[in-house]
Amino acid sequence: MSDLSKYTVMFFTPHADDIELGIPFMYLESLRLGNKVIEVVMTNNAYGTEYDKLKGKRLEQIRIKELDEANRVFEKESGNKVKVIRMDYIDGHLPLNTDSLNKVMNLIKKLKPAIIFAPDPWFAQDFHADHLNTGRLVYFSLKKLKPVSRPKRTFYYYSTKTHFYLKCQWRDFKIVKKSLEKHKSQYSSFQSKLIITFYNKLSILRHLLETKKTSESVREQKSSEDGKLVSPPKFDDMSFRDRVIYYLFSNTTIWGYVKFYNLSPEQLGGSITYNSKDLLKSLDKRYRYRYQNN
Ligand SMILES: [Zn+2]
Repeated sequence: MSDLSKYTVMFFTPHADDIELGIPFMYLESLRLGNKVIEVVMTNNAYGTEYDKLKGKRLEQIRIKELDEANRVFEKESGNKVKVIRMDYIDGHLPLNTDSLNKVMNLIKKLKPAIIFAPDPWFAQDFHADHLNTGRLVYFSLKKLKPVSRPKRTFYYYSTKTHFYLKCQWRDFKIVKKSLEKHKSQYSSFQSKLIITFYNKLSILRHLLETKKTSESVREQKSSEDGKLVSPPKFDDMSFRDRVIYYLFSNTTIWGYVKFYNLSPEQLGGSITYNSKDLLKSLDKRYRYRYQNN
């Protein structure tokens, strides 16, 4: 029998509140099962506000604290601990390149997770460039790693496709709301309520139809029998339904973020000190929404 308490489960998140928004129930469940849970936060969260004065170092510090407090809610509920790893790429400027890829790959190699969760880069519900790149970095890392160094299973959240459902307990919605409320710089108590209710309803609507249960869903990264990762489909090969979904989500979600990224890192008193060249930038026209002054 395999021992559940021996599993390392890694959750890759672009920003401090993406657990609560994207995969809270599986996060809580992983903790409850006694797994070793690691949250890898890819960016420094310097931009997530409309108030320019708060952007930069001040917001980074606030959101480090908020993330700790949100995790404490899950820890208290589960009696387990979360290990947080901060990759500290500048918010909105997480690149996909050899350097960032090697960092993610080495982290996976070192920590040997049995299970990885990451935002879906191909059937995305959320088109923030950091979200897409967090998912892409995990995908391309797995591609580069030998099968023996890969996790047993990899799941994508914020996905429009479903391979796996976790039934949500009604009482857990309260816990998720409580942890979401800890991100005070992002949401008021009322907003948390709205988000949870909306999430609630989305889950209910989509999953009730599919499974007749309230549940959280993920897409699994499949491999072929000879150990090759199954590649995402080319856009032209996608079904009409998938293309409509793609257009709907890609055109609605980015607008919510554009207003945040109105200043360059230099204008915030910092600078990009890492290789920020992005291998897919020229191929993906959505990148032009990344910063308005670019
Ligand atoms: Zn995010």
